[in-house]
Parts: sequence; structure tokens; C-alpha cells
Amino acid sequence: MGVAKQLYQLQEVDLELESGEQALARITSQLGESQAVVAARKELDGESQRLEELRQQQHSMEWEIDDFTVKLAAVEERLYSGRITNPKELANLQHEADGLQSRRSQVEDKALEMMEGVSRGEAKVVTLSSQLKRLEVEWQHEQQQLLAEAERHKGAIADLKQKRQLMVVNIDPAAVDVYHGIKKQKGRAVAKVEAGTCRGCGITLSTAQLQQARGNPLVQCSNCRRILFLA
Ligand SMILES: [Zn+2]
Repeated sequence: MGVAKQLYQLQEVDLELESGEQALARITSQLGESQAVVAARKELDGESQRLEELRQQQHSMEWEIDDFTVKLAAVEERLYSGRITNPKELANLQHEADGLQSRRSQVEDKALEMMEGVSRGEAKVVTLSSQLKRLEVEWQHEQQQLLAEAERHKGAIADLKQKRQLMVVNIDPAAVDVYHGIKKQKGRAVAKVEAGTCRGCGITLSTAQLQQARGNPLVQCSNCRRILFLA
């Protein structure tokens, strides 16, 4: 096999390796926390916290209502005990009882609103929790697929590297050096010759160059310096 053909085949392996490594890097960048999951978790945390605050307010209102009830019972006990006969004192007690009752009923109204708020909050937390759960399951599934894909690419890359090593030992080291030098500068070091032109740069090659390229030694394009490979 001519050295140009060997280098051309080496280049094919290098290109495959490159695209495998690019794919692996793309996958690796997709691994990790999902923005959607993070956002859903944050929303749920915020809503749970608001719900907890509402519950605490509801409890303190219930205590307030209990407090009014106890005070009212004491006032009414005195009012209806028969022990107090002074009309002015009785009127004062009645006034006090009315005031307690009206304040209690104001707090009761607020507590009712609060209870509705708690119910709405509970429903929202349930909805957000199930949304988060669904997103987490989707994300886990995606991550598993990505990991499996990454493993496939790693395996393919390892195989290609091994193949490359076996190829390189059979190529003239000086030619491999030339190949690496041009590859570093141009990305692709070997250009196919088709219809008398260099596929690397598109220039029409001279008859002399074409004849040289048919022989075994390395011939580089006079324009782009790539190694010419005549299939
Ligand atoms: Zn060229």
C-alpha cells in the first residue's frame, strides 16, 4: 500500500475520532442539574413556605377566637348570675359582652378567609409537587439515556485509538511526522486528487505532479501543501 493511502486511511480514523470526541463533549455538557427541575423545585418551596405561614396565621386566629370566647363566657356569667342588680353595672357588662362578640365575629370572618387561602395553597402545593415529580422522572430518564450514549462514544473512541496505534506502527515515521505537521496547521493533512484537481484547495495539478502522486513517495500539493492521495 502506498504511503499516501496509509495516511489517508489514518486521516479517516482521525476524523471519526474527532467527531466521536465532539459528540462526547456535547453529551457531557448536557449532564447534570436540569434548569426546569431547579425552577419547579424553587416554586414548590416558595409555595410550601407561604402555605406554612398561612397555617400559622390561621392557628393564631383560632387562639384569638378562643380567647374572646373565654372572656365572653366570664362576662355573660356575671351578667346573668343575678348577683349584679345595679342597672348601670348591668348596662356596662352588656356593652362589654357586645363588644367581645363583635370583635370575635370580625376575627371569625378573617379566619374563614384564611381557611380558604389555606385550602387554595394546599391544592397548589399538590399540583406543584406532581409537576416536579414528573419533571424529575423525565430528567432522570434523559440522564440515563445520555449516560448510555456517553458510554457508547467512550467505547468507540477507545476502539478507534487502538486501531490508530496499530495503523501508525506500519507507516514510515517520517511520513507520519509530515502528516501531523500539516494536520496541525490545516486540520486535514491529506487531500484526494479527483479529476486532476486537489480536493483540499481546488487547484488543478500539473501533469508532473499527478505523475509523482501516482508513485510511492509523498507528494504535497504545490498550493496548499497537503499530501496528495490519488485513489
Ligand atoms: Zn491543494
